Amino acid sequence: MQLLSSYLSGSWSAGSGARHTLVNPATEAPLAEVSGGGHDFAAAFAYAREAGARELGALTFAQRGQLLAQLAKAVSGAREELLSLAIANGGNTRGDAKFDVDGGGVTLQHYADLGAKLGAVKLLGDGEPIQVGRTARMGGQHVWTRRRGVAVHINAFNFPGWGLCEKLGPALLAGMPVITKPATATALVAHRLVELFAPLLPAGVLQLLVGPAGTLLDHCAPGDVVAFTGGSSTARTLRAHPVLVQHSVKLNVEADSLNAAVLGPDIELSSEAGSLFLADVTRDMTQKTGQKCTAIRRVLVPAAREAEVLDALKERLGGIVVGDPANETVRMGPLATAQQLRDVKEGIARLAAETDSVFGGTGEVTPVGTEGKGYFVGPIVRRAADPFTCKALHSHEVFGPVVTVGAYDGDAARAAAFIAKGEGCLVSSAYSDDRDWVATFVGAAGAWTGRLYLGSSKMAAQSPGPGTVLPSLVHGGPGRAGGGEELGGERGVQGYMQRVALEGDASVLKSLLGA
Ligand code: NAP
Repeated sequence: MQLLSSYLSGSWSAGSGARHTLVNPATEAPLAEVSGGGHDFAAAFAYAREAGARELGALTFAQRGQLLAQLAKAVSGAREELLSLAIANGGNTRGDAKFDVDGGGVTLQHYADLGAKLGAVKLLGDGEPIQVGRTARMGGQHVWTRRRGVAVHINAFNFPGWGLCEKLGPALLAGMPVITKPATATALVAHRLVELFAPLLPAGVLQLLVGPAGTLLDHCAPGDVVAFTGGSSTARTLRAHPVLVQHSVKLNVEADSLNAAVLGPDIELSSEAGSLFLADVTRDMTQKTGQKCTAIRRVLVPAAREAEVLDALKERLGGIVVGDPANETVRMGPLATAQQLRDVKEGIARLAAETDSVFGGTGEVTPVGTEGKGYFVGPIVRRAADPFTCKALHSHEVFGPVVTVGAYDGDAARAAAFIAKGEGCLVSSAYSDDRDWVATFVGAAGAWTGRLYLGSSKMAAQSPGPGTVLPSLVHGGPGRAGGGEELGGERGVQGYMQRVALEGDASVLKSLLGA
């Protein structure tokens, strides 16, 4: 069996210690092993701080963008191989695998293009020059400058490809060397990506740890950035990490999220916006078996439409074939790990104690082509009699193909109060063609979610859906979602840079920005 190596200090090494086995979650067949530790992290950080920082520091944004363009090309060049790995190790259908792998390539290309646009410079201006003296001679200017540290990227199991790329693109463009750590259970795609990327990058710019983090973060120092995606309990541990606290290491957290979708009172289900709403809910439940941080978990519909919505969801979900994604008829694969299956079942039991079953019971399913193996759960719709007081609905993220539907009176402020009950989401969506309703909703709900997706008849035909994270828009959310922010074009790059307020002769300040 393949023993995966980490790429640290310029060479591949398998490490040592107890082994973890990576499996195919549809068949439980072992695929590869990873060692539990034995790596020299001090040397890896030193290598990044010296070689990686020096190499990137010599480059302009445009040149770093060219590196990213090569990485994007490498992703598309190895696409079929990467898709196969995602299907085998992630339980992904081919469509799910494309979402992860192609999404990674698109995000790298976005930052490659941004590098070209920023040009042959190393500083970024932030806002306009300001007069701070008695005359225009004495000026002020905010700029973004390169951080002199290492970006440590810790990713969740559900997007091993996209997760690596969406953090790598902005960090490299900003000029920070990266140590990336995928979740152990699904590390095959990320491991292959780094095999492809490493020869295309200067020394020390990208390192990979496969296997547990161990003492990795003990080596962080001032100037470093840790970007974490994962569960809120791990996030709490990282927030209290003594070395991160001691050095005020910037920590960006993308954690749990109880994303909501609200149907406006003006939308007929048979309309374009109504179909969009149903398609978004169904897609978010079944794509990646609901293991998307952006997936809709809570659904609020006008009381007069509730029965119709439940019937429509039942009909759509009834056609979803669950099973081994290696089988072409399968539309939804297994959960990624045995632990995820246990967690999802526990979450369903919590919901079941407070809600009624509409579709799928508590997830019992007979998967296609699996011979009794695999971590399967079927799609589930629950109904909350009072969606505003249902505790489990607003307090626990079930990271699987599960939504709970409840009814409201159609009032926009009430819909926003429902969003707020999730205590901070990555994304939430509302479907309405009534501009006044939308304005009231956005004004009240905006504070509780990183992204608001406004579904309507006119955009329905070209909508990517709320579950798709776009590199040009920020990803992250307040409260439960971790309080972090990634992507969003240039904003994502700034997350890896230091803002400096410069004061001095206005013409000197101007010249620093190449004017
Ligand atoms: P997790 O258990 O928190 O693991 C996430 C990552 O943290 C993995 O790489 C894990 O490594 C690592 N890790 C665990 N303990 C650590 C420690 N003490 N120090 C440093 N790293 C540590 O989460 P998960 O099970 O992979 O992902 C599921 C959760 O992620 C869900 O709750 C979901 O909401 C959230 N998520 C959020 C987003 C978002 O963008 N906001 C996206 C995807 C998922 P090992 O695998 O080696 O343990």
